[in-house]
Amino acid sequence: MNVPDQVADDLSFLTALRHDLHAHPELGFEEVRTSDIVAKHLEEAGIGVHRGLAGTGVVGTLKVGDGTRSIGLRADMDALAMPETAARPYKSTVPGKMHACGHDGHTVMLLGAARYLARTKGFSGTVHFVFQPAEEGRGGARRMLEEGLLELFPCDAVYGLHNMPGLDVGEIAVVEGPQLASSDSWHVVFRGTGTHGAKPHLGRDPITAMGSFLSALQTIVGRVVDPLQPAVVSACSVEAGDPKALNVIPDFAAIGGTARAYSAAVRDQLEQEIGRLAQGTAAMFGIEADYEFERRIPPTVNDADATRRAREAAISVFGDRVRTAFPPSTAGDDFAFFGQQVPGCFVWLGNGPAVEGALHHNTAYDFNDEAIPYGVAYWSALVERELVSG
Ligand SMILES: [Zn+2]
Ligand SMILES: [Zn+2]
Repeated sequence: MNVPDQVADDLSFLTALRHDLHAHPELGFEEVRTSDIVAKHLEEAGIGVHRGLAGTGVVGTLKVGDGTRSIGLRADMDALAMPETAARPYKSTVPGKMHACGHDGHTVMLLGAARYLARTKGFSGTVHFVFQPAEEGRGGARRMLEEGLLELFPCDAVYGLHNMPGLDVGEIAVVEGPQLASSDSWHVVFRGTGTHGAKPHLGRDPITAMGSFLSALQTIVGRVVDPLQPAVVSACSVEAGDPKALNVIPDFAAIGGTARAYSAAVRDQLEQEIGRLAQGTAAMFGIEADYEFERRIPPTVNDADATRRAREAAISVFGDRVRTAFPPSTAGDDFAFFGQQVPGCFVWLGNGPAVEGALHHNTAYDFNDEAIPYGVAYWSALVERELVSG
């Protein structure tokens, strides 16, 4: 392991700050205290600070030497609306809010790298430290981009990091290709003509159409999508008629669910094929279908060149404990929005064994402080290797 002395010297400060953030969790777009702390420490390190993107977002910019390349490093700052159950000295002081995904650790590690790099200045170029609000389903990344993040702070590449239970502390996974799935919602409403349950021939039954649609739905993954490409289509809600009116065929039947994919092409295919099946089923039964596909989060797909750069930096810190194969997560992360705009790489940092209570979004979860020096050293090495003059 290769953690610079200056990083090791900063550990007691960073660990105390991690505990302070953990004790004071804030939900998406409400990270007022957290962003004040981040901005204050960036300014104290002599780093230029921009505030207000997506409300509570903070961007610190450090330019050194004459290098023309510019990169963005992103950390998320928000907590989750859930109670913390485990007893610990720095337990959440806010009922119903908790840092259960380790974004307290992410914030502190990026801040640690900013402090180290501002002191050592061992690179040539521009680094933007992007502290993003509202990763947990509230759309922080998208809003930062909509409000001009990449126009104000152009980046040639962007990098993200998430802690991962199941990887040892001192271990990191840097893998090319898909890391996290897209997460989208779909809705279909079959519009028929309601009638007496005893006289179906006088109406157009939407429930039978919906049943036919549902039974054919898995043929999209089973028969249409390339079998070597992962995809999930699930129906998670159905609504039609009234259990107290069992002699009435209703006017409409609604069905909806989720769709997941690891590539933009399969994601497009799912959108198209669910709609085609809905419209085709409606036509078959002589009724109408309304179809809506709601794009929420794109897949996170690591760019080959950015991944190579990240891997070289990781090897300089972690030696032979860099994993180049690691299964992608079926969850989503809105880092994907940055990766859609510029080449990106999202890595998994070891947080220790995946035992009960140690998993993300569990009421007993905690970020592992032992991982802090590795995260700081990775970010720092990445900047030092990514940004070289000439
Ligand atoms: Zn999370
Ligand atoms: Zn997270």
